[in-house]
Amino acid sequence: MNMKNGQKLKPANYRKMLESKAEEVRHSMSAQKAAQVVARLDVPSDEGDLSQQHHEEWIFLNRNTIDMKLLREIADALHRLDQDTYGICMECEEPISAKRLDAVPWARFCVTCQELIATRIAEGDMVEYQEADR
Ligand SMILES: [Zn+2]
Repeated sequence: MNMKNGQKLKPANYRKMLESKAEEVRHSMSAQKAAQVVARLDVPSDEGDLSQQHHEEWIFLNRNTIDMKLLREIADALHRLDQDTYGICMECEEPISAKRLDAVPWARFCVTCQELIATRIAEGDMVEYQEADR
């Protein structure tokens, strides 16, 4: 165990945070899936319920997409931990602040770059990356 004083990031802490977050997301995804299966069994095949059912399905799919995206972000962050590039902004290659990583352990960009990218997305110059923010 390499304990140093100072600003050095502790990768093991972030790995733990990322892994428990991934676990939490997976758990909530399977809980939602189970709830949906139960709801389906309860619903009689009545025409009137159909639009409500479609609405719930849409919410579920939408929610699922966000969770999948977050899981991918977390997997990428774990990969960066393996590669020793974790906590380095992928845009300007400056270290990302520990405060930001504590709040968003899967962050790829420092606050400054993230804001620039968000602005570019808002202006329609860029569609590629949007941070799953939870
Ligand atoms: Zn940056």
